[in-house]
Amino acid sequence: MQVTCPSGLIFEGRPWNRGDQRKLLQESQENESLLLPKRMVEMATVSVIDPGPYSFNAGGLVAWDEVTSVDIVRANVAIRIETDPIYLFQRNCQRCGALTDPPLEVDLREFEMRPASDEGKGLIQSRETKSVKLASTEGEVVVHLKPMRSREMVLLGKVQSQDVSALIDGDILMGIDRVTLPGGKEIQGVERINRFLDKQGWGFVPKLEAEVDQLWGWMDTEISWRCKEFSCRCEQKSALPLDLGFYGVAPPTKSGPPANPPSDSASAETTTPEPSSLPPLDSQTPPI
Ligand SMILES: [Zn+2]
Repeated sequence: MQVTCPSGLIFEGRPWNRGDQRKLLQESQENESLLLPKRMVEMATVSVIDPGPYSFNAGGLVAWDEVTSVDIVRANVAIRIETDPIYLFQRNCQRCGALTDPPLEVDLREFEMRPASDEGKGLIQSRETKSVKLASTEGEVVVHLKPMRSREMVLLGKVQSQDVSALIDGDILMGIDRVTLPGGKEIQGVERINRFLDKQGWGFVPKLEAEVDQLWGWMDTEISWRCKEFSCRCEQKSALPLDLGFYGVAPPTKSGPPANPPSDSASAETTTPEPSSLPPLDSQTPPI
């Protein structure tokens, strides 16, 4: 199968198999900060067809460390579509806390992708940042944007495991290299940039988001759903979780409902993923 990513990277991939799942389970037990989406796409990569803006060569392997997070997400969704396009997962309602039962069901083929702009592709290649002037509480600032790559995805996971609220705008946070204040002073580092963003009005981050989506490309992975609890019915949105459940593997250490749904039907399609006891948003879930 041929996979095209938002940056223009095209690679030859294959669906995941049982051996990949076994490897993933073993590695995730041994290494807590394992970046699942990167590791899984590595396993399913056969060779580069067109490197797009990256420095690796056609015919060789994809150096996934260099690749942008939106490309990694796209690659995961494309491989999962080839493996099994229907994905079942569970979430707790944001209002009443009830777990979705039956699980939410999404058809991954419906998720859209938008390519990176030519300017964005050029910046991925040159590793330069894009300067965006914006009005802020400190006056006009310059925000220097860079594409989030896998090492920033790992860093974001660490930040999120300490502070769940950092999930909000996490992709933007990791996509800011630095901010230049009106006097020329620069703000750098995740925590300082996060504090700066906290002081801004509601329109600040959406402007950056629009810029980021255009530059590096975009993958729609938002799922809208409604709580089924009779007294709640809350409408909400969740990001597609790229966690162990996405790879058809239930977390080994958590208790919960059995990994296999009770079924007396031997004719059940073997390709249907198990509504496994899915982990909550954890440190390995990238923001999408
Ligand atoms: Zn609810």
